[in-house]
Amino acid sequence: MTKTLEVLIEEFGEQKVKYSEEYFEKYGTDWYKEIKPDPLAIFFPESEIDLKKIVQFANEANQPLVISGGRTGLCGGATAGNKELVVSLERMNKIEWSEDKKQVFCEAGAITDVVKDFVNSHDRLLPISLASSSSSSVGGNVATNAAGSKFIRYGSTKDHVAKIKVMLANGEVLTLQKEIQKDATGPNLMELFFGSEGSLGIIFEIVFNTCEKPKFLETIVLTSDDIDAVKNHILSPEIKKFISSVEYWDRNCQTLLDDDPKKNYFIVIELVSQQDQAMQICLENLADKELDLALLTSKQAEEIWSKREDLPVVLASKGAYKMDVSVPLDKLKDFLEQLKKLESTEIFSFGHLGDGNIHVNIVSSTKQSELIEETYKLLKQCGGSPSAEHGIGQRKKGIWTDFNEYQDKYKLLKTLKKSMDPKNILSPKVFFE
Ligand SMILES: Cc1cc2nc3c(=O)[nH]c(=O)nc-3n(C[C@H](O)[C@H](O)[C@H](O)COP(=O)(O)OP(=O)(O)OC[C@H]3O[C@@H](n4cnc5c(N)ncnc54)[C@H](O)[C@@H]3O)c2cc1C
Repeated sequence: MTKTLEVLIEEFGEQKVKYSEEYFEKYGTDWYKEIKPDPLAIFFPESEIDLKKIVQFANEANQPLVISGGRTGLCGGATAGNKELVVSLERMNKIEWSEDKKQVFCEAGAITDVVKDFVNSHDRLLPISLASSSSSSVGGNVATNAAGSKFIRYGSTKDHVAKIKVMLANGEVLTLQKEIQKDATGPNLMELFFGSEGSLGIIFEIVFNTCEKPKFLETIVLTSDDIDAVKNHILSPEIKKFISSVEYWDRNCQTLLDDDPKKNYFIVIELVSQQDQAMQICLENLADKELDLALLTSKQAEEIWSKREDLPVVLASKGAYKMDVSVPLDKLKDFLEQLKKLESTEIFSFGHLGDGNIHVNIVSSTKQSELIEETYKLLKQCGGSPSAEHGIGQRKKGIWTDFNEYQDKYKLLKTLKKSMDPKNILSPKVFFE
């Protein structure tokens, strides 16, 4: 046992400090399995006071910390591979409702689905919709600015945040808020923490605004050989205003899910409205288009969404290399067709079609690196983003140098990191070498 670990246990006790292999395996890593977990220990704070003490301890001992939420991240942001002390927020999970403001207060370790169900029990909606929401934490959602299947209508996590409390690397606590829409008091510095992936501060409390629940909801499937059918017919202004989700999966994914693919793309469209009549007009509008469409019952819709949620899990079990890119909609057809030409059987794609967010999954034992490189080359030609919603973590740091357009952002990020965390205590391996 190292001296630092001895002091930790003495100071906080074995209830809050865990250091067995079993804990290392579970809390030392996220979904990105390429970094072997090797933490110093796992610390479970139960209050702001515990958090402050651990940050002070880390400063005195020059001990790097890795902040851990639900560990569903796909880029190694919550992975401790170099004797970092993992700070798991799972015991900080209180939730409270404010009827007055229709807001939900959460400690950061609260599980996303638990918060969503709680909001639902107050007849409201928190539209953070990820296949990982049964395990992810709301703190992790804010720290990665998670998006997901309802981005097209509701935006990403940051669009629902009214207030956060963050502990900085020196133990100072900031309360940042965006309660008033029109607010020109300088830059909105709360934005700094959306997507900061544990490297600029520990987000420990969040207040979310909630939305009105849609009264009417319909799910439609569209099968097509032409991906532009969505852009040309479904995303037209008269239909788009009803859309809350447009997801797709390709022929290879259909086969993987034991379906018999009739067309290249299987597309699921969710429509919402507060008025039945408006929804009926939208459906009539769609029926007039010459598309291969089917309206689903709620039971069928549930089955289809469950299949969609299974996809990343099934692909992970096949050892897929996961890429998370976004492509401008007018380049999407070209991108997907060129992707198919690279390799027709080892590339599986699915994603949030309405936002051009494609999850490219490469399952190849022989050509993986080559296919990754070619995919990024195609992406550059299309002017897309190499990380649409999964972040950078420890895994995608190459983006800063490989993609010219991110170099200035990287410079600014380095400057911020230096001034906010001069001792490099918080997730030193996230974003930076
Ligand atoms: C099956 C599957 C489907 C997914 N689908 C989507 C999707 O549709 N859209 C999407 O955006 N993502 C998706 N993800 C990725 C992932 O679920 C999200 O990034 C999620 O927001 C991570 O939350 P978490 O609590 O698991 O965070 P973790 O994995 O624990 O951490 C993620 C990062 O945030 C930091 N962090 C965590 N909590 C805090 C905190 N309180 N304060 C400061 N930093 C913190 C960590 O240090 C790390 O860098 C998916 C993942 C899986 C496995």
